[in-house]
This record gives sequence, C-alpha cells and structure tokens, in this order.
Amino acid sequence: MAIKTEAIVQHSLDALLEDETFLPTVKGDARKQAFTSLAAILSTPNHIHKAFLRIGLEDKKIVRVPAFRVQHNNTLGPYKGGIRFHESVKEEEVTNLAALMTLKNALHEVPFGGGKGGVVINPRDFSEKDLHKIAVKYVHYFSDVLGTDKDIPAPDMGTGEREMDWMMAEYKSIKPGEPYRGSFTGKSVVNGGSLGRREATGKGVYFTFRYLLHDFVKEQYQLLSNTDNRFAKTALNTANRPLKIAVQGFGNVGSIAALEAYQCTYLQNKVVAVSDRHVTLYNSEGLNIPGLIDFTSQQHGDLPITEKQLEKAGVKADILHREEVLYLDVDALFLAALEDQIHEDNVEQIKAPVIVEGANAPVTSEADNVLSDNGVIIIPDILANAGGVIVSYLEWLQGRETQFYTEEQVFKLLYDKMQKTMDSILPPFFNDPYPLRQNCYIHAVMKLSTILYRHGKLY
Ligand code: GLU
Repeated sequence: MAIKTEAIVQHSLDALLEDETFLPTVKGDARKQAFTSLAAILSTPNHIHKAFLRIGLEDKKIVRVPAFRVQHNNTLGPYKGGIRFHESVKEEEVTNLAALMTLKNALHEVPFGGGKGGVVINPRDFSEKDLHKIAVKYVHYFSDVLGTDKDIPAPDMGTGEREMDWMMAEYKSIKPGEPYRGSFTGKSVVNGGSLGRREATGKGVYFTFRYLLHDFVKEQYQLLSNTDNRFAKTALNTANRPLKIAVQGFGNVGSIAALEAYQCTYLQNKVVAVSDRHVTLYNSEGLNIPGLIDFTSQQHGDLPITEKQLEKAGVKADILHREEVLYLDVDALFLAALEDQIHEDNVEQIKAPVIVEGANAPVTSEADNVLSDNGVIIIPDILANAGGVIVSYLEWLQGRETQFYTEEQVFKLLYDKMQKTMDSILPPFFNDPYPLRQNCYIHAVMKLSTILYRHGKLY
C-alpha cells in the first residue's frame, strides 16, 4: 500500500508541533500529551468489521468471500466512504483508504468522517445475479453498523450505481422504519441519487488541474515569479500554454477527466494518450475522446485494441503497451487506475512535470519523495478526487430534505467547494518547501485536531 496511515499522520504532526499558531494556548507537557493523543487517534481506525459472506452461486457452488467495513474516524460526522469489489482488497489497504477518507473530508470541510469497505472478488468472474447476492449479503452482515447517521457507503473500484441501488433496497427491507434515503450515496437518479454524481470525481479531477495551472497561476503570477520555490518554477514553466495530457485508466474517473480536458477547448489542451488494463492509445495531435467513450460503453469498458476497432470508434491512434502511458513526454499525467502505479522501480522514467491523482494512492511514498525532490507537482488524491464524496454529501442532503438540485447547481457547489479548498492551500504551498500532499495533510489534520481538542479528546 502506497501511503501508510502512520506515516501520513506523523509527517503532519511533526510539522504542526513546530507551528505556534496551531493550538497556541496548549503549551509544555499538555502540548506533548495532545500530540501523542492525536497520533494515537488518527493512526488507528475506530472499528474494523470483518465477515466471510456465504454466497450460493448461480452454478450451485457455495463460496465464502472475505468482506470488510473499516470505520476510521467520525469526529466530523458519520463515517463515509466507498465499497470496492476487487480481488486485491486487503484489510490493511481498506484501513489506509478509510484514513484517507477522514483526511479528504476534513480537507474539504465535508461534514463526514472516514470509512471504507471492500469485498475480495473480481466482479468480472461473477454473473449479475451473483453480484446482486454478494451486494445484498454485504448489507446483511454489516447493516447494524451502517445507516444515514452512522456510516454511509458509496461506490468505489468495481462498484457503481447498480450496487448502491441493490444495497439501499436491502437496507430498507432489513431496517423498516429507519431513514434509508441517505444510507447509501452514488445511487441511480431514479432511486434517489444526485444528478452529476456519476461524473463528479472525473470533473473534480480536471477542475483541480485547470484551476491550479491556469486560473491560479494567471492570478498569482507575481507571487510565483518572486519565489525560489521549486514547485512555483514548475507551475510557471508549465502553465498558460496548451498542454499535453496523458490519462492512465479509462473508467468512470479517467474517461470523464479526459472528456473534460477535450471539451475545455478555450485552453487548447490535448489528451494525447489514454490507457486501460490492455493498451495505451497515443496520438500527438490529440485523441477523439467522445469516440473512445462511445466505443467503451459498447465494449464492457475496454478501449479499442486493434486497427479495425480504432476505425470503428473513429479514432486515429498508435497502439502502445499499457504501461507506456506513464512514460510519455507530456505536461501532465492523470493517474486514474489503481494504487501503487508509480513506485521506486519506475519513478526515474516519469517525464511529466505535473501528476494528478484521480485514483487513491497511485504513487508510493518512495516515488513521491523522488518526484517531489525534482519539483514535480503532484495534486494528491485527497485534493483531486474529492468530487465524488462532495457530491455524495449533496446527495445525502437532498435525500434528507427531499429537494433536488439541478445538474448546474450540483457542479457549481462542487467547484465552489474545491476552489475554496485550493485557495487556502495553494498560497502556502508555493511559499514553503513541503509538497502539495503534505500541505493538504497538514490542513486536514489541523481541522480535525481543532475539533478533537474542542471536544476535550486530546488529553
Ligand atoms: N469512493 C470514493 C472516494 O474514494 C467516493 C466516496 C463517497 O462518495 O463516499 O472518494
């Protein structure tokens, strides 16, 4: 697992311990004690729920699949975070991802805590009926710890609206009389989902990139030119010209981020490469992203892999190895596939000066250090991919109030929230030696700690 909870927390606390503006009235031994408590609270989850789901499959076989729900912290509100269906799911990974959710929500001031769930299956190996059984069983096993005001799951890798609809229906039937509309987010719109939720993560990913490299750099040109900060240099060298973008992963996040870049014509940025688990497609003049999205929607999500398929999709591209996407000479690399994609062994081959984390934890800590030392700007997961959970919050609110926002309202609220976060993070980032990830963690830990202190938990 790329980013370990303890490491995240320790880095942030080390920086905060030195900062006299943080908890200024807490001094001496009390300060030491507060920091020890903080480290203990934030580096361990509140609960790890674990079960083996017993499923009678369509072909009459019976299997028991491991499943988890980790509740990391609920200082800011009910636990919140996706459930992933993936064969690589492990307890430690789910725990770390739950911690990232706590920090993501704190960073953007979303009034939720952090949680994460997982089921150890490859969804491609199961029929729709079997997946339905697995989703329903998950709710069966964990329903007592879930709920609108307790813990609210959402989609993650390998799950989507369909699974959330199934799960909410099951929750409703197991818990009659309990509020259920806000028990799951990321549902289909007909079942109480929010307009814009499906696109929210990908749109947010592109927004953070555009805002940092175009709007912010333009507005703060003077500030950036007057500092020796290595990240400011990268931003100035990269910004305010048409940029070449490569996108790893063409699922719900990567494809929408690529489409945003394609449609944002006034900047003349070009998506020159996209990839999936089979292939990288490359065209230095820019790829026809709508053509690729149409194609993948008819091919169970897979990109074209032959000349004939490319022709069918109306796309001109060179067909490269799937990993090539990472090593291209581009201005920005969007990572929207899996964890640990850039690591010690391939970090030296990365040429992009800007990396945007659409996926959670796609860069290992070792690789992160190397890239950051070289001045590469990494827009970290908790900043870049928070669009999903921000719109989940809007969905949860709409479920409570039974009022509905238009798609336009949803995206306005989403961008306003992300911009507010960036406006408080970017000026210190371009002025101090810490990478952007560290700035985000410090900010998030600071918000959480202030509330914990107020609640009298840091003694
Ligand atoms: N799974 C998404 C994430 O990692 C969305 C979580 C949510 O909407 O609760 O941020």
